[in-house]
Amino acid sequence: MTAPHRRNQILAELGLTPLWRLRPEVSNPNSTLTEANSLAKSIDAVSPANLTEQEFIDLDADWNTLQSTVSRCTACQLHETRTQTVFGVGDRKADWLFIGEGPGATEDARGEPFVGQAGKLLDQMLAAIQLDRGHQVYITNIVKCRPPNNRNPSLNEARQCAPYLTRQIKLIQPKLIVALGKVAAQNLLNSDESISSLRGKVHSHLGIPLIVTYHPAYLLRSLPDKAKAWKDLCFALNTMQSLS
Ligand code: SF4
Repeated sequence: MTAPHRRNQILAELGLTPLWRLRPEVSNPNSTLTEANSLAKSIDAVSPANLTEQEFIDLDADWNTLQSTVSRCTACQLHETRTQTVFGVGDRKADWLFIGEGPGATEDARGEPFVGQAGKLLDQMLAAIQLDRGHQVYITNIVKCRPPNNRNPSLNEARQCAPYLTRQIKLIQPKLIVALGKVAAQNLLNSDESISSLRGKVHSHLGIPLIVTYHPAYLLRSLPDKAKAWKDLCFALNTMQSLS
């Protein structure tokens, strides 16, 4: 049986068609994720990353379908050690989208991103610019399952999970994305630049303005950089106001 035939059969058995509608593959010659791309494509399993990002963007999965699909996902090894998936929280029509790297232990236990000490700090950061996670703010991560021992998600894990985030962004249609930390910034911008060189600029992800700041967990360990994070938030607020 050919690989595409086998994949289609598996998708049909899982009830994922016509949700997973295939279109001609689009290659990105500038991508620095070549290694991850080829690795992902070699995995003979039902996986969102078997589709290109462009294919998934056009899919019409609603929130419930998407969240249900994520909750059953086994596309990367992180599913083996998770307690539960951590999909995201907040206003599904938010202007602001905050994206971290992945769930930690508390998030894995509670099923909600940015709880615990880092979450408290993020809530304080949001409050400083008159925001809260229930109104005009949505919070999620690059990967929806906890990396063991709080390690960074690998490039392949991030790529496997990327189509879910892409669909979340398409459903939310935020005005501004804030990448929290190096892992989120580098994955969203397809870059290997340092966080210090990515801060202070308006980037773009899927055509949406994106600003980079530090991850709250890092700020808990590096208090002097809180001042820089405050500067980033003010920059984000000014950028948002210029978009309105
Ligand atoms: Fe699936 Fe993402 Fe969890 Fe990996 S991290 S198993 S791709 S939901």
